[in-house]
Amino acid sequence: MARRSKFEATEWEKKQVEEICPLCGRDIPEDQREAHHLIPKSKGGKVTEHLHRICHQQIHALFKDSELAKTYSTVAAILENPEMQTYVEWVKTKPVGFMAEPKRSNRRS
Ligand SMILES: [Zn+2]
Ligand SMILES: [Zn+2]
Repeated sequence: MARRSKFEATEWEKKQVEEICPLCGRDIPEDQREAHHLIPKSKGGKVTEHLHRICHQQIHALFKDSELAKTYSTVAAILENPEMQTYVEWVKTKPVGFMAEPKRSNRRS
C-alpha cells in the first residue's frame, strides 16, 4: 500500500492525511482505525465513522445495537452520555496507540 512517488512524504504531509477520532479528538494511527456504523449494520445502517479501536470497543461495551440505532446514532448523542464523557476524559490522557479492555457499564441487561 506504500505509494512511492517522486518524493517521500514528509512527517508533516503524513499528518495531513491522518484522521481525527470524532469521539476523543485525537489522531487515529492507521493500525488503530476502525469503522463504526452509527446505525448498526444489523439495523440497516450504512454510514460509518472512523474511530480508534479502543473508542469503538468502548461504544459497544456501553450500548446495545438497539440503543445505538434508537438513541446513539450520532457521535454527538454518544458524547452526551456521562459514561462516555468519563471515558473520553480518561482516554485523552493516553497515547494514541493505547489499547485496553473496555470499561463495562454497571448496567446489566
Ligand atoms: Zn461499531
Ligand atoms: Zn478515539
